[in-house]
Amino acid sequence: MNQILESAQTIIKKTASSLALDAKTVARLLTPEKIHQFTLAVTMDDGKIRQFQAFRVQHNSILGPYKGGIRFHPKVNLDEIWALAILMTVKCSAAGLDFGGAKGGVTVDPKTLSETELERLSRAYARAIFPFIGTDVDIPAPDLSTNSKIIGWMVDEYVGLKVKNKKLKVEEIDSKTLSYWRATFTGKPLEMGGSLGREDATGKGGVTILKSLISKLNSKQEPSNKQFSSIAVQGFGNVGYSFAKLASEQGFNIVAVSDSKGAITGKKMRSLDIPLVLQCKKEKGYIAGCYCIGGVCDLREGRPIANEELLELPVDILVPAALENVINGQNMSQIKAKIIVEMANGPVTEEAYEYLTKKGVVIIPDVLANSGGVIVSYLEWLQNKENSQWSKEKVDTKFTELISAAFEAVWKKAKTNNLKEAAFELALSRIIKKFI
Ligand code: NAD
Repeated sequence: MNQILESAQTIIKKTASSLALDAKTVARLLTPEKIHQFTLAVTMDDGKIRQFQAFRVQHNSILGPYKGGIRFHPKVNLDEIWALAILMTVKCSAAGLDFGGAKGGVTVDPKTLSETELERLSRAYARAIFPFIGTDVDIPAPDLSTNSKIIGWMVDEYVGLKVKNKKLKVEEIDSKTLSYWRATFTGKPLEMGGSLGREDATGKGGVTILKSLISKLNSKQEPSNKQFSSIAVQGFGNVGYSFAKLASEQGFNIVAVSDSKGAITGKKMRSLDIPLVLQCKKEKGYIAGCYCIGGVCDLREGRPIANEELLELPVDILVPAALENVINGQNMSQIKAKIIVEMANGPVTEEAYEYLTKKGVVIIPDVLANSGGVIVSYLEWLQNKENSQWSKEKVDTKFTELISAAFEAVWKKAKTNNLKEAAFELALSRIIKKFI
């Protein structure tokens, strides 16, 4: 069994045991309601047909329609998607949303495809899941290596099929119906009904929760307040970049960042200029080439380091925002951070979570730390269902209300520094109340 599925199932079983749940309830929580697997046949630019394995796992819909992203990654497999679907059920419940949990994915390295091949693959995936999704049934969104552009192709394909099935022409569809159909996907481009504030929502949610946690920790430790300032961020995509940028704007020192090809750190742990790093990554294609941004190596004094080294730096806060299982039995004793923010899904294995928590490290679990994305997705869905677009201020106000309430509920429930235990107990209690 894949390690992330093992971790997800272990924490469900542990929580079930502290809530004294019966075997039937536990089985229901561990097993998806539906598993869809497809082989997608896609025409490549050279005219050849290539096949891709694809999945949509619908874990639980007791609280509302299934909700969860779609990832494109070479390591995607059924176990991984199953585990991530479980985490979505827990995340939506812990955030107080009326959504269930699902996840989707295609086993592909998107970097090896041209844009037209990527579009054909995205459309083929949308056609495959078409019978199983819908505004009040299952609502996919972007995830690892997918974005609003890819979701836009899927929405276009989905709406095209709806129109065809109704034997109508696109011009005959009124705007209310179109908006309702488009609510089947979130993380859409703005012109297709996307919400303001979606792009950086996950990073923003993480920074908001981190600040709330620090304020709670500091109020506990008065009068000698601890400083939590230096941060290392693994992953520089949608989540990692927006977290790093917003955290640096809020006064934190981002001293190291990385992508799949390597990491950089400022010499003597000096802060990096995050927008400049992004600009450089765009020019060079990878972060490790950006240690002397703009050619001013002497001024910046940065240096490239290995991805593994980033995790073991003597920072206050570590933010894994790329892949699962990166903090595990092998490196857990080398981790020096006092706070870990799980911005990726499942970056700390169960074994490492227990070890680090016992050592006093506070870990903000993924189901809480990265819930900002699904919270704005929920707001996007509400806007589409009422055929309106809210102002950025309205989205921000509702977002802050929801994410702050989610953090407060978990904090209140936590008896120790184990926030994961508290988040899972809270989430599962809400779900099982509805089981008959
Ligand atoms: P993304 O594809 O935009 O970015 C991923 C980043 O990770 C890239 O910079 C990539 O280079 C880097 N990366 C890949 N392998 C790496 C490695 N071995 N070491 C270091 N960096 C590596 O993906 P994303 O949307 O930012 O998602 C990242 C994580 O956050 C995933 O676990 C995803 O499930 C989770 N997540 C994303 C969202 C969202 O709104 N996008 C919401 C919740 C959770």
